[in-house]
Parts: sequence; C-alpha cells; structure tokens
Amino acid sequence: MKKCPVCGELNGDNVSKCFSCFFDFTKEEKIVEQIGKENLATIFDKNDRYVYDAVSLSASKSGAIDTNELVKTLNNKAAEGWRLVSSFGNEADYSPASTSSANQKVLIFEKCVYRYKR
Ligand SMILES: [Zn+2]
Repeated sequence: MKKCPVCGELNGDNVSKCFSCFFDFTKEEKIVEQIGKENLATIFDKNDRYVYDAVSLSASKSGAIDTNELVKTLNNKAAEGWRLVSSFGNEADYSPASTSSANQKVLIFEKCVYRYKR
C-alpha cells in the first residue's frame, strides 16, 4: 500500500493515480524533488488540498451553447463534490473566410479533498 501525499488515502502499490483525488503518483517524484521532502510534509499537512478538472462544451456555429447540456454538466459535477470556479470561451473566428471550427466553452471545476483543521 502507498499513501497519497495529497489526500492521505491508501492506494494499491501498482496504481498510477490515487483513486480518491486522482493524484498522479508518477509525478510525485518530481514534486518532491522541486519542493523538498520536509517542505512537502509541511505544505500537505498545513493546507487545504484541492484537485481540478476541466470540461469543454462545444458551441453551435452561432456561438450559442446548449443550456440543458450546460446545466446537466454542472449538476453532474456538483453531485460528485465539484464546484465551478471559472469558465471561458474559446471563440471561433466567424468571418466568412475563416476555416476555424474550434468554438468551445471551458468549465474549470475545483474539489476540496482535504480540509486542514486550524
Ligand atoms: Zn489522493
């Protein structure tokens, strides 16, 4: 078993990601290297811990997004404990000569996986 440094959950030895907060164990070495083992413990023990996820919704040619799909996405994420923290549009160029097809709304979600008790 190995303990997740972010949420403290115990995971199997051969998993690459924490099943609880999706912390990537393959990146752990790099994080430890960057901030140092003693600092790592301090940071993880004295702070709230968050994980993030991003969802992109495709907009129609006019730039409108499907409100039903948006509400469904928000409520599905909310049911899993995620909170919307930011969103932005990745707008297409609508000029007649444009061949751009990228037109999305990106939603950024946050989940607190550990609350430091002060
Ligand atoms: Zn974890």
